[in-house]
Amino acid sequence: MHLLEVQSISVEYVTRRGNVKAVDDVSLFLDSGEMLGLVGESGSGKSTLGLSIMRLLPPSGRIVGGRILLDGVDLAGLSEEEMRHIRGNKIAYVFQDPMTSLNPVKKIGEHFVELVRTHRPDATKEDALESARKALKDVGIPPERINDYPHQFSGEMRQRIMIALAIGLNPRLVIADEPTTALDVIVQAKILDLLNELRKKYGMGVILITHDLSIVLERAHRISVMYAGSIVESATARDIHRDPRHPYTQGLLQSIPNIELDSQELEAIPGSPPNLLDPPSGCRFWPRCRYADEICKNKVPAAVEVAPGHLVRCFREVNSI
Ligand code: ATP
Ligand code: MG
Repeated sequence: MHLLEVQSISVEYVTRRGNVKAVDDVSLFLDSGEMLGLVGESGSGKSTLGLSIMRLLPPSGRIVGGRILLDGVDLAGLSEEEMRHIRGNKIAYVFQDPMTSLNPVKKIGEHFVELVRTHRPDATKEDALESARKALKDVGIPPERINDYPHQFSGEMRQRIMIALAIGLNPRLVIADEPTTALDVIVQAKILDLLNELRKKYGMGVILITHDLSIVLERAHRISVMYAGSIVESATARDIHRDPRHPYTQGLLQSIPNIELDSQELEAIPGSPPNLLDPPSGCRFWPRCRYADEICKNKVPAAVEVAPGHLVRCFREVNSI
């Protein structure tokens, strides 16, 4: 059994202008100790998918189909109270901007006390502070800094604290949603390496959400590429790198600067992503696809397994089998 299994999830936001079809028939799985990179450009539905797994969608968002199983248990069937227990204890979310999640008037230690007490009501304050010191040590922050306030830390340190809070209750699954976009590249690499170390140390499953394919090519075991609400290709990082099959994945790879080649033209993908209030019929990528055919405009391509564990949603693969 997989740690996490997302089966054909679709999510919509109800707005005055109509329903935004933000996630469309998405499936994925994750095993313990594994890192999955979820890659896609802005608006492709990555956070919507992550928040659906946590059952933390805003009130306008609703899951309109599919199932999310954690250790084989369907999360949709749980009460809000059971779900609160799952959040933090079993699944933790690291948000992009630490300042929105840290309370400026509370010391770091108090954040841990609150977290631990919410999930383990019988824990004492000293138990909570003890787990705070351990988690801070794990992320490279001196434990005595539990008495400091969030503004006394740098951006990098705050993101480390967010990770410490996420792992504080030993969750099985961590969803890190663009945890480093606000940081410079060197700090970004340090934070991602830290996340990877902790994954190995504790055997957690990690979903790393990013718009930057190069970040996950280096670190993730497997990668799912999202475009306009659907996953167009899933494979090991190695297969995505060496044998990308979907034209969108190929475009993303071609737009990564390659330092090994001296002169290289970065090939951006022409056009822009569709408005999800009224997505294109058929394959959502067809208006930008150089290979688009009649069938692409009329039918949604099913996922085809082109090699073991390598799934592609593209009619070019259907026709070549
Ligand atoms: P980013 O990289 O910018 O974080 P993302 O891949 O996380 O993007 P989402 O935030 O999941 O994308 O958004 C997916 C789609 O849903 C977008 O079209 C977005 O405009 C829309 N959307 C997101 N939140 C809401 C909301 N609360 N109400 C209506 N539409 C929303
Ligand atoms: Mg997002």
